[in-house]
Amino acid sequence: MGNIAVLIETTGDGAPKSTSAGLLGAAARMGTPVAVAVTAPGQGAHLAAKLGSLGAAHVYLAESDTAAVELGTAQVGALADAVRAYSAQLVLASNTNDSKSVAGRLAIIANGSVAADAVGVRYDEEGQEAIVQHSVFGGDFTTESTVEGGLMIITVRPGSIDARAEAVADPQIKTAAVSTAAAPGARIDHATDAPAESDRPVLRTAQAVVSGGRGLGSKENFALVDELADSLGAAVGASRAAVDSGYVSQSFQVGQTGVSVSPQLYVALGISGAIQHRAGMQTAKTIIAINKDEDAPIFDIADFGVVGDVFTVVPQLIDAIAARRS
Ligand code: FAD
Repeated sequence: MGNIAVLIETTGDGAPKSTSAGLLGAAARMGTPVAVAVTAPGQGAHLAAKLGSLGAAHVYLAESDTAAVELGTAQVGALADAVRAYSAQLVLASNTNDSKSVAGRLAIIANGSVAADAVGVRYDEEGQEAIVQHSVFGGDFTTESTVEGGLMIITVRPGSIDARAEAVADPQIKTAAVSTAAAPGARIDHATDAPAESDRPVLRTAQAVVSGGRGLGSKENFALVDELADSLGAAVGASRAAVDSGYVSQSFQVGQTGVSVSPQLYVALGISGAIQHRAGMQTAKTIIAINKDEDAPIFDIADFGVVGDVFTVVPQLIDAIAARRS
């Protein structure tokens, strides 16, 4: 099995983002994981050690002075350099806005193709061709795709792959300046950190999500969703009807025209389960639905369902969770 290049997204303070573990886990199943990260010159030692602990056998630190002001350009060049240096057969990246744009630009300069929004990846029976699984039509079907010829670049839906790689105590580290010139992308003239709305986990990558729908009835009542989310340490999501009714802002919307999530646990409160909502959450590992209509379509995909009023069931649930913790 060959080398698999993995694009690592980093936080503002230079740590690997939470999506890195799943990507390196997927890469380890397909070959030897090579983590590729862009750093400011001389800043990558701590990052490399962390990537080793997440299973990177090799760490390619691409140093760039301009990464902070040019969106994705250094990452495109770094991946192209790493693919050449390690003869990588595949590139794995997150299906996030940043990494998707890098994937597309890399495909152009490296003569490759992008398989987007993968929820699984494997080799064919001969162990030759990579096959990518996609969850489509609101999660009702799983399709497979492959690329014939050229570099295959796969963007993986965050949270969709559970595999984790074994820690590597002493990853082989290579540091080099980015040498491949990619066409310049957008430049950042000025950036202001958005104030954190809450200290809850980020919706897109959360391990647990509690979402509320129109069944909550009002913005005030939506606090019940927040309460259950906090008692589970979960992120908060919402249906489009809840967003359109003004209960929460659009950034909370899960579904076809919102965020796609693949958490370990998804709790749907007062959500009917329209196909456009399911499109964004059907790959969750365990789905719990609470709805007073026993015929609500959300129950078709729920692992556990409670037919009942959220205002009766959820407070009891919160009390039961608190009782278990005390
Ligand atoms: P409803 O369908 O009104 O369901 C409310 C549910 O709450 C009902 O099942 C009801 O039984 C239950 N309920 C009511 N009161 C209680 C109570 N007290 N206790 C328990 N249960 C109760 N939707 C999305 O969510 N995300 C998207 O990204 C999205 N994109 C779309 C894109 C397009 C192009 C279109 C056309 C639609 C899109 N929609 C999307 C809208 C989608 O079709 C549904 O209208 C929406 O998901 C419904 O939201 P809901 O389940 O909260 O509301």
